[in-house]
Amino acid sequence: MLKASAKFAIPQKGRRPQKAVNIIRPQASDFLENKEGELRVTWLGHSSIILQIDGSTFLFDPVWSERVSFLKRIGPKRFHEPPLPLTELPKIDAVVISHDHYDHFDHDTILFLANHTEVNFILPLGVGAHFDRWGINNSRYQEFDWWESVKVNSITLTVTPARHSSGRNGKTDKTLWASWSLKGPQRSAFFGGDSAMHDDFEEIGERCGPFDLTMIECGAYNDAWSFFHMGPEQSVEAHIQLSGQTYLPIHWGTFDLALHVWTEPIERVIVAAEEKKIDYITPKIGQTTRLPCSDENQQWWPNDIQWSDAEHTPITSPNLKS
Ligand SMILES: [Zn+2]
Ligand SMILES: [Zn+2]
Repeated sequence: MLKASAKFAIPQKGRRPQKAVNIIRPQASDFLENKEGELRVTWLGHSSIILQIDGSTFLFDPVWSERVSFLKRIGPKRFHEPPLPLTELPKIDAVVISHDHYDHFDHDTILFLANHTEVNFILPLGVGAHFDRWGINNSRYQEFDWWESVKVNSITLTVTPARHSSGRNGKTDKTLWASWSLKGPQRSAFFGGDSAMHDDFEEIGERCGPFDLTMIECGAYNDAWSFFHMGPEQSVEAHIQLSGQTYLPIHWGTFDLALHVWTEPIERVIVAAEEKKIDYITPKIGQTTRLPCSDENQQWWPNDIQWSDAEHTPITSPNLKS
């Protein structure tokens, strides 16, 4: 009983930042000189990413809205402004979506991109139905099942498995959830979307890797929903199983979607990454990192918030083979 109440203890403080989050506003020059051989990543907070790889530019799970909810005035609210206005995005070759949850698939952002740019959208199976409902021409999107591939310029994007769920407006699991593997002539990357720990990371690494960069969720976890989301230690383990070179922890720092304090995911990631001796980066929100990166990681988040470690609140996903 004691153990159960400790496990579900909800921190009263620290689930949102007390002070303004120190973000960086990307400059147009950050996105220039993208050519074959280049790999640059700009984390925009949570799971929104600008990835420049071998001369192409992709925007993953773009969310600019103030709240991630079906209501405009209720629901998890941003800790910080989006680092740059949608009008200042570089030219994007494709927008890539992992699944249709509100914190990854944002109606207002999608509508802006559809109406004010020429960009096309690459989606997991079924997500296009939202585009149809929102009045976006179906020539603007393509849908794919797990292990199907599409080529954009010189980059092959493959839909890879994830262990999660989907749905909005009360409908659940009618559309596919996915991760994405990207392979160009010289560089490669993996975008994890949302996922619990699962048994397919090694296979993804074998079929689509090794990856110069992995972007894997590390926040919004709880042992009670460990079949939907992974913990920070599992995120590091997934990077290793994928045969990743540099690891970027995502899905933290922007919204309060779980019960842990807001800095706990990155603190636990660092402990696990140091222990496993992997190469990882902790950029500021809005900061562009060119890979490989030899800069020292900086701690830009407060270090005076008490967090719970893996020993006290372990995340263990059920039904794993190994
Ligand atoms: Zn999700
Ligand atoms: Zn999510």
